[in-house]
This record gives sequence, structure tokens and C-alpha cells, in this order.
Amino acid sequence: MAVSDEVLDELRAGLPEGVVVTGADAVEKYRHDWSRDPSAGTPDAVVRAQDAGQVQVAMRWAATHRVPVVPRGAGSGLSGGSSAVDGGIVLSLERMTDIEIDTSCQVAVVEPGAFNKDVKAAAAKEGLWYPPDPSSFEICSIGGNVATNAGGLCCVKYGVTTDYVLGLDVVLADGTLVTLGGKRIKDVAGLSLLKLFVGSEGTLGIVTRAILRLVPAQAVRSTLVATFPDVRAAAEAVVAMRATMRPCLCELMDNASINAVENYRSMGLDRSAGALLITQTDAPGEARGLELATMQAACTTAGSTECFVTDDPDEGELFVAARRSAFPAMEAMGSLLLEDVGAPIPLLPDLLDAIREVAERHDVPIPVVAHAGDGNTHPNIVYDPTDPDSERRARVAFREVMAAAIALGGTITGEHGVGKAKAIALPDQLGPDVMALNRRIKDALDPDGILNPGAVL
Ligand SMILES: Cc1cc2nc3c(=O)[nH]c(=O)nc-3n(C[C@H](O)[C@H](O)[C@H](O)COP(=O)(O)OP(=O)(O)OC[C@H]3O[C@@H](n4cnc5c(N)ncnc54)[C@H](O)[C@@H]3O)c2cc1C
Repeated sequence: MAVSDEVLDELRAGLPEGVVVTGADAVEKYRHDWSRDPSAGTPDAVVRAQDAGQVQVAMRWAATHRVPVVPRGAGSGLSGGSSAVDGGIVLSLERMTDIEIDTSCQVAVVEPGAFNKDVKAAAAKEGLWYPPDPSSFEICSIGGNVATNAGGLCCVKYGVTTDYVLGLDVVLADGTLVTLGGKRIKDVAGLSLLKLFVGSEGTLGIVTRAILRLVPAQAVRSTLVATFPDVRAAAEAVVAMRATMRPCLCELMDNASINAVENYRSMGLDRSAGALLITQTDAPGEARGLELATMQAACTTAGSTECFVTDDPDEGELFVAARRSAFPAMEAMGSLLLEDVGAPIPLLPDLLDAIREVAERHDVPIPVVAHAGDGNTHPNIVYDPTDPDSERRARVAFREVMAAAIALGGTITGEHGVGKAKAIALPDQLGPDVMALNRRIKDALDPDGILNPGAVL
């Protein structure tokens, strides 16, 4: 049911002019995230908050009138997590972008709308580094990163977002603002509520400030690039190297994704390669040579057709940039159903085989890129939106890929979140008891279910 004008006027009255935006044209760009979820609704208003106080005002109003609220960062999500819902509002954090670096505590105190790249840049000015690096780091916000517990390319060695979250300010569904954690490195006082909000996808509260741990700047990286006759061989190389070491980046592209990138923007990749592995090491001194030798031996033993090593960071970055452009490149192939399935690392070759079998069974293209060193893959199912049968087959394949991951003891999502796109498959992974536990936590924090309805649970 739409929010009445009278009720919207109450919201406007509590906030400065221009914060509440209405009108079909103005709200259109807040309807979808990057997954372009076709079932996204149209919000009755968008609140473009400038500070935590305004978020509290909006949440108190929403709680009073039981209006659904979809929190939104930069809208780069890949699982429909910030897709709008009909009869609700979008709470956009895009205007809250302050970043403060505390060099003595080695933390960044960041408002949620700040982009990941800007936090990295601010830290770098002080000789520090914020490691989490989703491929989308130039277009995603810290609030969205915290809410999805974003991963990325260097996570194989340096961990994911949650490993860097020391503190959060969160506005709850009733408008209460709680401060969790702080600039302390160690703190076990009370239940681990801080971590409860990391990865909660806007369903438990709205992050209005984050305190992020920084580390000394990363050393320059050396890069090894190897080609393989097929993805299974490349995955076997990853399993072998991960058994004894941790590269600081370990990314895989299959033949279809290599060609998608080359069609989109030629980067000089070998179009005939069955798979490409890009691995990096930032180990100090002699250890670097040893790591490169280990990585190279793993590739050779697994049957690599070519191996190339460079210590030139710019040359290495060209390959990483090619990998980062895979998503926009695949978009050019048709409409996409975006997967994010993962498995325990030794089962990565089996997961890739299972994905290929699904693609063959349903005759749908499924180009794959993977944060292979984490066992986390992105098989993206391509379909023709003007062909109902192509879309039907793609949707069946989407469910089967997730089922295959679960069957291997894996997950339906390693880093993008469940959002609205994968909520249907979550019970298959978690089972009834864990689903019920999730539901009890959600009910305790958001009894009226106004925060991001339809996402996750
Ligand atoms: C080309 C491309 C590559 C990508 N690569 C990666 C990758 O390597 N690794 C990875 O993890 N992700 C990747 N992503 C996905 C996406 O960028 C991340 O999920 C990112 O964390 C989303 O941030 P956002 O600001 O865009 O959030 P949004 O898309 O706006 O929102 C994402 C979720 O967070 C919630 N949310 C947003 N802000 C807040 C807040 N302040 N408080 C509470 N909830 C909030 C929303 O409700 C939603 O559920 C990629 C996306 C693209 C387009």
C-alpha cells in the first residue's frame, strides 16, 4: 500500500528541505542495484540523509507508520539487496561521505556513503592501507561493504571486510542509535553484536559510521600469469598452491570470460586459453622468490600451457584490470543472473565441473570468473530477455548452480550477499533450525519487519 501524502508530509516536516525526494523521475535511479532485479518496486520517497540524526528521524517515522525501509549505499550490489520495494522508502546514505584517518590508532573513521576507493586513498596519504578490495572498489560504499561483508581480490591473504571492522554506529529499526566497538583492537565485552551487523544486508539496522582498521602499506607485488587447457587444470593448480601458501591475489577466468573481456575491451589476453590464472605475491625478501617458485610449480604440475612472471607492478595490474572488467564485459553478452557460489578450496575443481554440467544440461552460457584462492566463484548465467525459453532455462540453471554448491558443502554466496535474488535458496543451505534462529534474531531487532523486507530471510 502506498504511503499517503499526509504521512509523507510528516516525514518532510522532520527533515531539512531537499532531504526527502519524491516523484517518479527522481526515485527511478534508486529502484535497482547493479543486478537490475526485474521485480524491484518503486519507492514512495527517497531519504537522502546527511547525518545519523536524520537517519534516526526517518527510522522513528518508519517505525511509527510501519513503512518498509530499504537502506542503500552506492547501488553496486549484485543480489538485489538494495532493490526498492513498493509502498516503502529508500534510505540513501550517499551524502554521508566523511573520512577521517587516525594515524596513531591506525584506523579510518568513515561515514557509510564514502567509497571504498576514497578510504584507500585517504589511508595511502598516511602510508597506510585499507585492504578489502571488491572489484567494484571504485563504485561501492563502505556502508554497502559492511552490510554485505564484501570480499575482493586480496582477501585470499588479507581477509574480508569484517576482519577490518572495529566499530560501528548503527541506527536500529526503532530509531535508536547504538555505538558498538571502537578504536580498540581487542574487545570482548558483551555479546559479539558488532559482527552481527556485518553482513546483515540492511535487515537489522542502518550503519551510519564505521571504524576500520588500517595496516601498513602493502609491498609492491610480483605477478604470475598462467594459461591452462581447461578450468579444472587451473583449479587444480590453485588447490596445490593453497595447500602450502597464500598468494595475495589468486583469480581465475575461464575461456568464455576471457573472450567476453577481449570483445568488450581488448586487453591482449590469449583468446584460445581454456583458463587463465592470475596470482600475485607481496612476500618480503627471499620469500618472494620461493612463493613465485611454488606458484609456478603448482601451475606446471597441473598442466599449464604457458607461465609468465613479472615484477613490474604496472604490468601485473594490467592483468588484474582485465579480470576486474569481467562483469561489465559479460553484461554485453545479454541479461545476467549473477552467482557467487563457493566451496571448500579442495573442491573448487568439482564445483567448476558442476557449473559446466549445468550449463550443458540447460544449454545456457555460464562464463565464470573466480576469487579462486578463496574457493569463491562467479558463474554468471547469460540469457536473452526477449526469449522466454532462454530466461526459463537460465532461472533453472541459477537454482541448480546453488544446489551444486550446497551439495559440495559450499555456499550460495561467498561475498555478494543473499539479497532478494538468492533468498529463495537460503533455507536449502541453512536448514530449518538455523533459518529459525536467523528469524528470531531478525524479529528481536526488527519486530515489524520494516528493514529491507524480502532480503535474506
Ligand atoms: C563490477 C562489479 C564487481 C564487483 N566485485 C565485487 C567483489 O569483488 N567483491 C564483493 O564483495 N562484491 C563485489 N561487487 C558487489 C558490490 O560492489 C558489493 O556488494 C558492495 O559491497 C556493495 O556496496 P554498495 O555501496 O554499492 O551497496 P548497495 O548495493 O547500495 O547495497 C548492498 C546491500 O547493503 C545494504 N546497505 C547499503 N548501505 C547500508 C548501510 N549504510 N547500512 C545498512 N545496510 C546498508 C543494502 O540494503 C543492500 O542490502 C561487485 C559489483 C560490481 C558492479
